[in-house]
Amino acid sequence: MDPISALAEKLMRLPGIGPRQARRIAYALLALGPAVSRELALAITRLGDETAQCERCYRFFPASAQAKQALCSECSDTGRDASIVLIVERDTDLDAIRKSGTYEGRFFVLGGNIPILESDPAKKIRIKELLAEVTRAAREDGLHEIIIATSANEEGEYTAQYVTKTLEPTTLPAQIVITSLGRGLSTGAELEYADKETLRNALKNRG
Ligand SMILES: [Zn+2]
Repeated sequence: MDPISALAEKLMRLPGIGPRQARRIAYALLALGPAVSRELALAITRLGDETAQCERCYRFFPASAQAKQALCSECSDTGRDASIVLIVERDTDLDAIRKSGTYEGRFFVLGGNIPILESDPAKKIRIKELLAEVTRAAREDGLHEIIIATSANEEGEYTAQYVTKTLEPTTLPAQIVITSLGRGLSTGAELEYADKETLRNALKNRG
């Protein structure tokens, strides 16, 4: 395979990149010159080498290659409220909430959402890992509330229902309440794009 097609094939694994965009990026890199391509290749390598995935919340976080610590700064911070966990679809949603400074509890990243007609929902999100983490947190951290903060669209709602149904056999006997964000968020709006005030209201009006 020629180098343009080879790169295009790799780029098409990324979200939102189709065959045409992939080839366009390949040609754009050629036009920008070899130095830019080398810098990009290095940045991608660093991404893998200097990032770790948290064993608890599954977010990716900066970590040195030597000391690949197991827990991210939020999960290892004893000052945070470990009795509440907020469930989001993606790392970018978590970043938006962290930056807003409106939430003091723990997080969990599902890694995506479930399309409505999905025949095997468990393959689309980290549901097994979530169940294990909720069980652990109930035992060790006195977990008493789970806030589901999936997107305010069809897939997000469906994912929230699936997560609730799967967690209930564990949360009901342990008297852990499951809440969701108040929808100050406009229909279809994703957390990632919500401003600080909207996030604060959505958290305050959860139920
Ligand atoms: Zn973590």
